[in-house]
Amino acid sequence: MPVMDGYTFLDRIKNDAEMALIPVIVMTQSDSEADEVAALVHGATDFVPKPYRPQVILHRAASLIKLRETAAMVNQVQYDRLTGLYSKEFFYQKVRERLEEHPETAYTIICSDIENFKLYNDTFGLEAGDRLLKHVADGLRTVVGEDCICGRYGADCFLSLRETGQERQDRVQLFSEESAHCPEMIEKVSVKRGIYEITDRSIPVERMCDRALLAVNSIKGHYGQLYAVYDDALRGKLLREKAITDAMESALAEEQFVVYLQPKYSLTNERIAGAEALVRWLHPKWGVICPSEFIPLFERNGFIPRLNEYVWRQVCMLLRGWMQKGYPLVPISVNVSRADAYRSNLAEMLLDLTRECDVDPSLLHLEITENAYSENPGRVVSTVEQLRKAGFVIEMDDFGSGYSSLNMLSQMSLDILKLDIRLVQNEIAKPADQSILNDIISMAHRLHLTVVAEGAETREQLNRLRAVGCDYVQGYFLARPMSAGQFEAFMRKNARPPASRGKQKKELSLG
Ligand code: C2E
Ligand code: MG
Ligand code: MG
Repeated sequence: MPVMDGYTFLDRIKNDAEMALIPVIVMTQSDSEADEVAALVHGATDFVPKPYRPQVILHRAASLIKLRETAAMVNQVQYDRLTGLYSKEFFYQKVRERLEEHPETAYTIICSDIENFKLYNDTFGLEAGDRLLKHVADGLRTVVGEDCICGRYGADCFLSLRETGQERQDRVQLFSEESAHCPEMIEKVSVKRGIYEITDRSIPVERMCDRALLAVNSIKGHYGQLYAVYDDALRGKLLREKAITDAMESALAEEQFVVYLQPKYSLTNERIAGAEALVRWLHPKWGVICPSEFIPLFERNGFIPRLNEYVWRQVCMLLRGWMQKGYPLVPISVNVSRADAYRSNLAEMLLDLTRECDVDPSLLHLEITENAYSENPGRVVSTVEQLRKAGFVIEMDDFGSGYSSLNMLSQMSLDILKLDIRLVQNEIAKPADQSILNDIISMAHRLHLTVVAEGAETREQLNRLRAVGCDYVQGYFLARPMSAGQFEAFMRKNARPPASRGKQKKELSLG
């Protein structure tokens, strides 16, 4: 051995993670027991003294290689290659052992999921994604401590078992070189946790983990909510959501969804100038279900475009019926979800629909929720431009509920600004000189936008809205959402063209 002796060599490779995987057979002149022991202590796998017997060496080497390969396979099954955490199956096994060994200790299973991991991967590439996964796995290990068991559950999902106690405070900080330069990413990508405190040890560990997973899934897309605890309330909510999801297809086929209309009034003459179509689910067993219960779920499970299309068609048919009966016409606003706004053929599809029902597109107002603009503004703006070119009137719904700002408005193609109910009610509650309503409305008017306020519940609120120059109002004080039949009766009594408010602005009513 010219450069170093055999023992130094063994020490060196023992300390190198990759080299250490290679088995070393020490072959030497000496056949002293002390030398053999020393070689084995320094990490040799086997020791062969001279004179060599080739057949023996061949067989020893073959069986060593086989042994190593088996060990590597077991290792692969037990550990996740990327993060070094336990694999899912091995995690289950370790948890079972731990629970059996410590029947008196209270344990909790935590499922940690990286929200928007796909977005991160798409933005920074797969290698950066892998680094983030390793970083989160290391973070988890540190947070839950030495004595805990951690495993990888799925692509961007991890499991840990820890003694019940501090789990709600545990937070894995997400920091990576990539996201440090990209503040929006820091906001969007976070580690969310589903917590299941093991109360019933008789259920299989797999089911316990499913519960932690259900808990974390229940807060996906809920901004700022970092953990959820699996409990009876959550279980009830999830069961209800499942029942709704199971029932939605047949409900649509059986026409259980019914369009209600809530009038919009002109503030200059307090006459009906339009209406918003608001869907209700009339379930044969459950009764009336409000949209707040099923719309957010349909937005998550992908059903919303189908329901919306149904509502739009119903509204067009209603308008058609009014025309045929010679009733006075007012435009009807329908809600357009974020998923619709991303459809490249939305304008085409809506034009086909209005043509088919022989309805002028200007009678169909489209309420696009403010938050549809936040994720991919460019795409939404171009869809909206196509829609306006086709003759539809665009309202921005829920203005003031999210992040859009007044200066964003000037870059958007819009006709009507619809102030969110919370914004209206909060601002109206303040003394006039402290409220920003005035500024918002003046700014909107400078941009030639018509302003509709949502949620006026009292005469005082109505007067305040008129005083600050709001054009239209929709609220319980004037009318609640009602069936189409009730609305027809209402409209025939009330509708007349509202007083004109200047040429440039889009009027709600066509008169
Ligand atoms: P939105 O589009 O902002 O609709 C206005 C909501 O405010 C309606 O609730 C309406 O009944 C309520 N509202 C109106 N005036 C008042 C008031 O003075 N006080 C109070 N407290 N509330 C008032 P609704 O009908 O429960 O609808 C809730 C949300 O569900 C809607 O908010 C909309 O985002 C969604 N939604 C309803 N129908 C549809 C639909 O057909 N498609 C889609 N995508 N979403 C819909
Ligand atoms: Mg709306
Ligand atoms: Mg709204």
